[in-house]
Amino acid sequence: MNASSVTRGLLARAAFWTWAWWKLPVVLRCYVGVLPVAAVALAGFTASQTSWHVSDLETFLLLLGCGLASVAATPRIAYLQGGMTRDFITVWVLPVAIVLPPVFAVVTPIPLLMLTQWRVHKGVLYRRVFTAAAMGLAYGAASLVFRQFPASFAGPTIGTGVHAVTWTVAVLICEIVGGRGHGVLIMAAVKLSDPSVKLTKQLLTKEGLQSDFTEANLGVLITVVVAVTPVLAIFAVPTWLLVRRFMMHGQLLAQARIDTKTGLLNASTWEHEAETEIGRAIRTGSPLALALVDIDHFKLVNDTYGHLVGDKALRAVTDALRGQLRAYDLAGRFGGEEFVVLLPHARESDAIHVAERLRSHIASMSIPVGDDIESGPFIKLTISVGVAALDGASRELTDMIAAADAALYYAKETGRNRTHAISAAARVS
Ligand code: GH3
Ligand code: MG
Ligand code: MG
Repeated sequence: MNASSVTRGLLARAAFWTWAWWKLPVVLRCYVGVLPVAAVALAGFTASQTSWHVSDLETFLLLLGCGLASVAATPRIAYLQGGMTRDFITVWVLPVAIVLPPVFAVVTPIPLLMLTQWRVHKGVLYRRVFTAAAMGLAYGAASLVFRQFPASFAGPTIGTGVHAVTWTVAVLICEIVGGRGHGVLIMAAVKLSDPSVKLTKQLLTKEGLQSDFTEANLGVLITVVVAVTPVLAIFAVPTWLLVRRFMMHGQLLAQARIDTKTGLLNASTWEHEAETEIGRAIRTGSPLALALVDIDHFKLVNDTYGHLVGDKALRAVTDALRGQLRAYDLAGRFGGEEFVVLLPHARESDAIHVAERLRSHIASMSIPVGDDIESGPFIKLTISVGVAALDGASRELTDMIAAADAALYYAKETGRNRTHAISAAARVS
């Protein structure tokens, strides 16, 4: 990046009338605007209450350096994943909030998020400003709370024995104030921007809770270490990176199993899990069936309304699929507009029954082309289904898929919008 492009970038940022912030709905715009003002006010107030010491500045620079090194060493991909980014940087704000006067906790998120913005080059600037303000306010409050505990329970230095335990409990309470406070401020903005969003669905996921717990735990541990001797914080940087990488691995693993467009299992994951289910059915002698579902004349939907509407129709069919199946049925996206469902404990006749129920449900759906769900226009879709059951001649997944595919072909040939089953035994003979 040369000097003139940097200048151009800065000038563009300075043109406040072009900021994306202006395009927000008015209530959200006020909320997003008020928080940084409140953070600046808190920084001013806490600065006026601070007695400044060179040793505090040294500790601050050391912790900030560790935080910046951690952000700089995080692979950019970690920030570019979809969904909520959990970047663990509050782990460096908590020790600042505990061992230094509150003003330091209010300002620490600013350089950390400036570096994040610079590294990632993604995301609207006002969001980072808002995040820094929310973090500064929450951990500034946590720092003020810590100072309310009596010296016998917490205090400026960590003692030994029982005092070390109570001191750590006080830090944990402050992490709850800072971490949860930060979360609540962010979630309020999410809810204001989309009132239909289900916050519990976003927050109470297994990965989310694990991530929150790990972040809080690591923050408390680093704070205890820093309270003993600040320079020991340096040893926490590799630990932070390892934990961050481990948590990211979990996120990537979960994403790699799923077809992003429909949220169903992708073909290879489905195949792997289906093989396990078939093995189990053969071992236990229980019935099992498979249904191959293909949307009829789907190309026509794309040709008439475009691919985006086609995608919307695809998701509507997926939702119907989920709604009609039992919790232990295994649905996957097989390819394009084809889905595959494994039905454990289902005989051929059960599978035909399930497929027919799904087929008539989808045929009765009216999928709105646009946002007007009352008066349309609507898309009407039908599906064809091929069914195959596990039997003496068909004990492999590939055999079952081939039988279901032949049945699907027959359903298409005989007019579409129908279910057909070919027993594998008949196909082999
Ligand atoms: P048939 O009844 O014989 O199955 O006809 P069809 O038009 O459904 O089948 P065909 O195989 O000719 O076309 C499938 C279409 O599905 C073509 C492709 O553009 C569309 N398609 C596949 N994947 C996607 C997708 O992810 N999104 C959208 N919008 N369309 C897709
Ligand atoms: Mg097809
Ligand atoms: Mg089709």
